[in-house]
This record gives sequence, C-alpha cells and structure tokens, in this order.
Amino acid sequence: MARIKAIRGMNDILPDQTPVWMYLEDTIKSVLNAYGYQQIRMPIVEQTDLFKRSIGEVTDIVEKEMYTFDDRNGESLTLRPEGTACCVRAAEEHGLLYNQTQRLWYTGPMFRYEKPQKGRYRQFHQVGVETFGMNGPDIDAEVILLSARLWKELGILDELELQINTLASNEARAEYKTALVAYLKNHFDKLDADSQRRLETNPLRVLDSKSPETQEVLKGAPSLMDHIDEESKLHFEELLARLDKAGIQYVLNPTLVRGLDYYCKTVFEWVTTSLGAQGTVCAGGRYDGLVEQLGGRATPAVGFAMGVERLVLLLETLNVIPASVTETLDVYITSMGEDASMVAMTLAEQLRNEEKSLRVQLHCGGGSFKSQMKKAGNSGAKFAIILGDQEVEQQVAAVKNLQEGEQSNVAFNELAQFLKDNL
Ligand code: ATP
Ligand code: MG
Repeated sequence: MARIKAIRGMNDILPDQTPVWMYLEDTIKSVLNAYGYQQIRMPIVEQTDLFKRSIGEVTDIVEKEMYTFDDRNGESLTLRPEGTACCVRAAEEHGLLYNQTQRLWYTGPMFRYEKPQKGRYRQFHQVGVETFGMNGPDIDAEVILLSARLWKELGILDELELQINTLASNEARAEYKTALVAYLKNHFDKLDADSQRRLETNPLRVLDSKSPETQEVLKGAPSLMDHIDEESKLHFEELLARLDKAGIQYVLNPTLVRGLDYYCKTVFEWVTTSLGAQGTVCAGGRYDGLVEQLGGRATPAVGFAMGVERLVLLLETLNVIPASVTETLDVYITSMGEDASMVAMTLAEQLRNEEKSLRVQLHCGGGSFKSQMKKAGNSGAKFAIILGDQEVEQQVAAVKNLQEGEQSNVAFNELAQFLKDNL
C-alpha cells in the first residue's frame, strides 16, 4: 500500500529543528514580556465571512489562497490565513476593546494555498502583535521598537532593513485612488496583466507590481503625498521623529502598500536580502477602521506579524544561533546489571530533584558497556555517569567528561554539586 505523506507545503518540524524554534519563541516571549504584552489564543478555524469582510474580497488571500470548506451543517468555514481578523473578532466578542487599551500577542499556524517554495508554505507560523485603543504615533513607535529589540536580541538587526510608509486616512487614500486610476488608465496598454486587472479592483496594489514596464509607468504617477491629510502627515512625521530619537534606521518606501485592505496611516516591513525572494520577515501597520468594519465601535489599532519559518531560515543562514541552543542534554547515565540499573534510576531522580535546571537522561534498554557509552557519546551530553556493581557498593559514580575524555570518581551525595560546578 502506498504510504501516506504530509500535505504539500505543510511541514513537520523535526526534533533536530525544534530547539531553534523554541529558542526563537522564548526570545520573542521575553521581549514581549519586557513590554507588558499579553497573550491571546484563538481557534484556527473561523467563519469565512470574517476574512472576506476584513482582508477584503479583492486581495490575493481571499481571491485564491484560503482553505475554505463547508462544515457538516453547511456553514462555510476557513482555516485562518492570518491572525489580525481573528484577534479583533475575539477581543471584540469578549468586550476587551470597550473603553480600554490592549497590547496583545498570539502565535500559531496560518494557512494559505500558495505555491510552496523556500520561505513560502501552505501551513506556516506567525507571531502576531496587535494593540488597540491608542491612536497616536507613540504606539506605532513602540511596536517598531519592540520588533527592533527582538532583532537585536537575535543578532540580526544589521541584516534587516525597516521600510516604512504612510497610507494616509481612508478618505485621502480614496481621493488618491481616483487620481491614480485616471493616470494609469491613460497608460493601460503598458501595464502588466495583473496590474490591468487590479486597476479596477485594488489599484494601490499596482504600486508594488514587480513588472519593469509597470514600474516605468509609475514613475510619472501621482503621489499619495499630494493628497495626504494633515493629521496623517503629522502622525507620520512624529513617528519618524520617535524612530530617529530611538536610533532606529529606516528607509522611506512610497510604494509599500501591503496586500490587505484594512491598513491606514503607518505601514512597515522588516526586509532582508539574505533569503532570496521571500525577504519580508515581519510586516504590519495601523488599521483604525477594522474593528468598526467588523461590527464593533471605532477603535484605533496597530500591529504586525512575523513569519516564524523565515526567521528560523534567517538565523540558520546567518549562523547566529548560540551553540547552547542545540545542546539539549547535560548528563547521560549508564549502568551495568540489574542492581546498578535500579540505582541509576534513583540517582537520576535525585539529580533532577537537587538541580532543577539539570538535563539528565537515563539509559534505558540495557546493552553492553560499549553500546551504552556510544549512546552517551551521541546524546550530546557533556558528562556520562557510569554505574557498575563496584560503584553501587561504594556509593561513588564514575563521571566521564565526554568532551575532554578525563574521568573522575564522585560520591553520590556530591554529584549534583560536582555537575553544577563543571557544566
Ligand atoms: P508575502 O509578500 O511574502 O506574500 P504577505 O504580505 O502575504 O507576505 P503577511 O500577510 O503580511 O504576508 O504576513 C506577515 C508575514 O508572515 C510575512 O512577512 C512573512 O514573513 C510571513 N508569511 C506570509 N505568508 C507566508 C507563507 N506562505 N509562508 C511562510 N511565511 C509567510
Ligand atoms: Mg502573500
């Protein structure tokens, strides 16, 4: 019978990869804690309408990337393609947005039917940050500072470029769209097919077209800055002043528009050149209209999402993962004979009691001394403890440093201290 395999674009994350994932997740958590952000957990399935109404009908995600299916009762459900809409739904449903501010984060799998390639998968993971109830540039700056601190902690700040833009208010953008469409219609024949199609449905997306001919046409296009409202202009200037003050470098990118409908004012991306075409590791912006659009009260909001797979790839590519991350064991305990095996078990428990951070693996399944020592050597542990009849009788363990080779005898009751001192 043919073996059943994982679904294309949906990856198993294997034991030799999970230490890096955990290191990344732990670092993210500690940075989020340092800013007082609280975690929220949402289901991975939502009503399809949630995404249609928030992300927008004429976006790549809703047009062609969603995993949508009918539940047994005929209700249309969708595996979440992103977390912002889910987070807004949950926060609104439980009254978290009423007369208060929130700084929230979540992590988990997202699903998009895309062409799988390096850094682009059908199930991928995001860590998302969403803040609610704050309308000033101070909070925009905070989420950017938070992300910058994370890159610094991970040792990748120098590899990432912060690109930033403003999309102005919804009204100013609507006015600009009219001017842009009028201009592009005069150059319709020179636009690529995607841009021709988007001209009617989502004209701002034409701005980030990859086609050189389209980009040539865009050089003469009207600029959003000619239509920007005074409030958005000030907001943007104050945000940039804060970034300057904090020493965060950025690049102004007027073609940065983001793929989703709900953004206004600030948008930004952290981009690397080290991952090929999939260079955006983190993207976000302000979405003041979304809560209201989903049936709540008007609530200012700003957030971002980062792609965990792309960050893992980047850490690996740049070789910046601390060695300690992949060392997952300190001690491997071997024993010869039934009596010694019993003592070994007790000793392992005792070590775990005495030194909570100690990572102890007990050899199970018997075997020769040679084969047990081979397992110890391959385990990645720094020390092997060797117990035979003689050691048990004298209550002394033979402790071998597997990296340096030397061996010493340590009394059972001094073992925890010895390991602590020598690790
Ligand atoms: P892209 O332009 O690469 O398609 P996007 O604009 O669709 O990205 P967002 O919806 O903003 O992406 O998601 C935020 C982040 O999630 C991205 O910057 C990226 O790091 C990650 N991401 C998005 N789609 C995928 C995917 N299919 N596989 C892996 N990571 C992804
Ligand atoms: Mg995409």
